[in-house]
Amino acid sequence: MGKQFAVIGLGRFGSNVCKELYQLGHEVLAIDANENIVDRLKHHSSHAVVANATDEAILKSLGLRNFDYAIIAIGEHIQPSILCTLILKEMGIKQVWVKAQNTQHHKVLEKIGADRIIQPEKEMGMRIAHQLDSEKIIDYIELSKEYSIVEVVATAKISNRTLVEVDVRKRFGCTVLAVKRDEQVNISPLPNDFIYEGDILVVMGHKNDIKRFENKGM
Ligand code: ADP
Repeated sequence: MGKQFAVIGLGRFGSNVCKELYQLGHEVLAIDANENIVDRLKHHSSHAVVANATDEAILKSLGLRNFDYAIIAIGEHIQPSILCTLILKEMGIKQVWVKAQNTQHHKVLEKIGADRIIQPEKEMGMRIAHQLDSEKIIDYIELSKEYSIVEVVATAKISNRTLVEVDVRKRFGCTVLAVKRDEQVNISPLPNDFIYEGDILVVMGHKNDIKRFENKGM
């Protein structure tokens, strides 16, 4: 069964979250204070409503407490975003995800109990920088300040060798989570599985260890 989502603030970020969730078959309530913006989302959401997201009575009347998730993307306006987060957490919505504009905004949201805080420009900027940093890295996800998951392209140096021969875990302390080859994804690679040049390895580990593997191991 699809989940119920409320997307509040339909700028570039919110509107894309809304459209994609709706496309994925979920029930999506789209909310924005601007009528023209709401109009544009009418055919890309289950319901699109003009409302001020800092008005507790209106949020209650929209039945928001029954939603599984709320995504607050009132980007530029920090105060209403904070107020709306407070109201929705008080109403008991389990998952309130909020887009933060900057570090201070991020800190306040953390304090008032936002379940996930997103800084799209910062997160995407970092991912792109890692892809630019190395031709071998094609994607990068930060797990914490120290750990990450990267997708690296296998070079000729490790081609035709098994995972146990390359020995990423012992030599570099990293784990190969999956191996992608053309459209196939091997999600539980075995020690004796072969790696070929051009394969994409999904590697998890400490950032320094991943860097060592990338520079010295392949
Ligand atoms: P982005 O950076 O993702 O494009 P914007 O900051 O441009 O985000 O857009 C935020 C949206 O939030 C706008 O469409 C604006 O109308 C809406 N918004 C701002 N304040 C409120 C509010 N109090 N209630 C509902 N929607 C709001």
